[in-house]
Order: sequence, then structure tokens, then C-alpha cells
Amino acid sequence: MTVSGLATPFGFQDFPNFTQGRNANVNKIVIHHMATTNYDSVPGIWKTREASAHYGIGQDGQIRAYVDEDNTAWHAGQWAANSSSIGIEHANTSGSPDWGIAQATVDSSAKLVADIAKRYGFGKVVPYQNLFPHSEFIATGCPGNLKEKLQEIADKANDIMAGGNGDVAPQAAPESGQTPQEDNRSAAIKEFQDKWKDHWALRGPFRIRTCEKQYGIYQVLTDDLNVEPNSWYYNGIPTGLLKDVSDPQGRSFEDGAMVRFKDDVNFGTIDAYDTNANAVGILFTGYKDMIWFDADKLLAHE
Ligand SMILES: [Zn+2]
Repeated sequence: MTVSGLATPFGFQDFPNFTQGRNANVNKIVIHHMATTNYDSVPGIWKTREASAHYGIGQDGQIRAYVDEDNTAWHAGQWAANSSSIGIEHANTSGSPDWGIAQATVDSSAKLVADIAKRYGFGKVVPYQNLFPHSEFIATGCPGNLKEKLQEIADKANDIMAGGNGDVAPQAAPESGQTPQEDNRSAAIKEFQDKWKDHWALRGPFRIRTCEKQYGIYQVLTDDLNVEPNSWYYNGIPTGLLKDVSDPQGRSFEDGAMVRFKDDVNFGTIDAYDTNANAVGILFTGYKDMIWFDADKLLAHE
């Protein structure tokens, strides 16, 4: 078990929505805001919402631990990012559209970031290298105005790691788009983005490995489309989207059955990309969670 000495456990793992263990090394921190001024409402909301984070910082700078760092919290919206990161929530001092954050919260965040960076051997804390806003991984307004404070958090954290007290003047905010980045997209993701303009279609059948009731709905996993490693949370396809073509009634979904997407949901727009995992995320109407597919497998089926 690993919990920062700066944190006090609060509702610690008293909710089901995280994964035991990790399948990657920790090499980054993801910054979130709570989108609420009610610090105490977290982590209770995760008893019913499929989300979680390792830490939360209050308006007065208090740091609470919600999930063991050795476990995978569900905060980034991407399996690869969740596996390799520690997620920190920050309580707001005001609501939309300002989403205020207290200076005490930023100062504590820098202390926690320094502590984590030191323990995992990050070296220097650098925004967009090992300190990311949630919005870098998925289309989200999170972390609100905290996105503009990443450099401040990094500067203070670096000062603390160098033996200082974190008392450094805030500098201009970085912008993620400014540094020219090499094109590290896979061929399949390039094709979806550049050639097909985010559109996908899958009209043919595919084979399911298994069908189970998970998170309250019947879902299937299929090796024909899944990202590896796959999980019910990220890769399960609700049977409500599918027709079982092996069964005249179209609804048995036995292991190994051939299924296909129903006619009105077998094409659409890709909603998110995960370059590291070579995955594409699709949000189907009526289902709140994004389903992640292997980009090569989805493209090959097109
Ligand atoms: Zn977030």
C-alpha cells in the first residue's frame, strides 16, 4: 500500500469504482477539478458514479487520500492513462464558468506533486510531460481554470524538490498546442482522422468471447475488436446495441456467437482517440460510457 504522508485517508476505497493493482508504472500525474465547491461530497459520489481518483485537495489546502496509489483509479477516461498515472482532484471555490481554485489548494497541490514526483523518480516536473490536465486525455472541461495553473504547480513543486518552500512567483501559462509535436499516431488512427474525418462503420459480424451482466447491463467482450488489455469497464459492448446473428431470436449471446451492430448504430463518429493504446473511443446514444476499440481491428472490419 502506498499513500502520501501528506494525506489523510477520507472515505478511503469505500466505493467500488477503481481497479486493484496496476499494469503499468506510474510516470505521470493527472490534474482534475471537482466541478463542485462541496469538498466533502467526494469520494461519496463515487459509490454510484463510475469514477475515482487517488487524492483530493480542499479549499484550505487539506489533502485527502481516496485510493491506494498501488491501485488504478478511474479518473483519466483512458485505460492507458489511468494505469500509468496518479489522479488528483481539487475542490473549487466557485461554480461555472469561473471554477475558482484557492491559492492554498494550488500550494498544497505543488507539495503533493513534489512528493509523488520524488517517490516515482520523475525528475523535473514539466507540464505536458509528466503533469497533465485531464483534458489532455479526453474531451472534457476538467480541470477548468486549473489548466492555466499547471506551470505554477510545476514551478512550486520543482522548488520544493530542490529544498525550497515552493514560494516562487507564478509565470505565464503554457499552451499545449504551442510545442510542435511529432506525429506519433498509428497508421490506423491517421486513416480515421485524416482520410475518414473521424467516421467509422462496422456492418459485418464479429465473434463474441463472452457475455456477462456488468455494471447493471448485459455486455459482451470480443477479441475481434477489443483493445488489449481489455476490461468490462472500457471495452464491454452493451447487448442492446447488438443483434445475435447465430440465433434466430437474435438475443442469446452465447460464448462464441456471431453478432453485429444493429442497423442504426453500425456507423457514426469517433469521439476520442488514445494514441498510446492505438484505440478509438465511441459514445453510443443512450449509453453514458465511452467504449474503446482497437483502431486496427475496427479499421480492418470497415
Ligand atoms: Zn477530471
